[in-house]
Amino acid sequence: MVEVRVENVRKTYGKVEALKGASLIFASGAMTAILGPSGCGKTTLLRSIAGFIQVDSGRIFLGGDDVTGLPPQRRGTAMVFQNYALWPHMTIFGNVAYGLRLQKVPEAEIRRRVLKVLELVEIGNLADVETRKPAALSGGQQQRVALARALVVEPKVLLMDEPLSNLDAKVRQRLRGELRGLQKQIGITAIYVTHDQEEALALADTVVLMDQGRIVQTGTPQDIYLKPGTAFAAEFLGVSNQLEGEAGEGTLKIAGQTVPYSGAVRGEAIVIVRASDIHLDEPSAAARAGAMVLTGSLEESLFLGAHYRHYVRLGSVIVLADSPDPRPAGDVRLVMPSDRVQVYAR
Ligand code: ATP
Repeated sequence: MVEVRVENVRKTYGKVEALKGASLIFASGAMTAILGPSGCGKTTLLRSIAGFIQVDSGRIFLGGDDVTGLPPQRRGTAMVFQNYALWPHMTIFGNVAYGLRLQKVPEAEIRRRVLKVLELVEIGNLADVETRKPAALSGGQQQRVALARALVVEPKVLLMDEPLSNLDAKVRQRLRGELRGLQKQIGITAIYVTHDQEEALALADTVVLMDQGRIVQTGTPQDIYLKPGTAFAAEFLGVSNQLEGEAGEGTLKIAGQTVPYSGAVRGEAIVIVRASDIHLDEPSAAARAGAMVLTGSLEESLFLGAHYRHYVRLGSVIVLADSPDPRPAGDVRLVMPSDRVQVYAR
């Protein structure tokens, strides 16, 4: 098990600054997700670690070794791609054995290692792996083979670039759980790129959030979700309301209403609260301790399957609030736990 250390890595493509000085330690034996919107530089960071991209400046270390100048095959990393990238003319066995054959590993050992790793990734019937080709497999099975091909060479670090994005939702969720179990079982250092926040939270020990070529926050899934460090982080990690506010000593004014406030920000502020963190109460309901309460008028509700999304008007502002049950239109109170309301200076 090795840690991966990235020090002030920069990469530009013409005028596009894909990485603006990324510095980070990916912990040994942990699963780290690099999360962020399209174009934020996730793939560039992953490919820089793999060695497919030569960085403009900065250094990359695997364990104690500086691998910045090394080609991919000498770094001790293995990569799993979104599109599986299996060789269509080779059998399942041949695909997985390929890297070991390149290394001139004896054939008997290749057989032992390939079958072992195919069993590990639960490819199913091992009897026909020497005759079946990738085209005869489902997308999920193909990705299992791609994972086996990466693991069979016993890399120090496993790199994955949106490996589940091409699969349908059910398969994706099942494989996500299995991938996490497998990574923990082997104890390999793994780095996983995704733009799907739920996937990152479900899968990773540590989430690295990127925006516009920069790492903007690093933490446990719980930290990233519950304590987003910026308005961007809060917005990216859930359907959120962004409201204009005025923060004072002990009070916060939102849409002309004043609620108690104990945060440090003063003056013009952006107040962010997730739709799922707002509880709707009857206007007459008893006060709740530790909550900020606003009053508004519920104008419309949409049924979204897992919950209803309500549109509540506060003067000229519309606030979204989710609840598992339908609510009648009319006056409501929006009850927000104070620790779920993030206040940022404007
Ligand atoms: P996505 O989720 O869409 O793949 P990403 O976060 O992985 O996005 P990157 O692929 O790392 O983003 O790209 C970062 C920026 O660099 C983007 O603006 C992209 O257009 C640009 N870029 C990436 N590769 C190249 C390239 N080979 N030539 C020119 N520009 C590139």
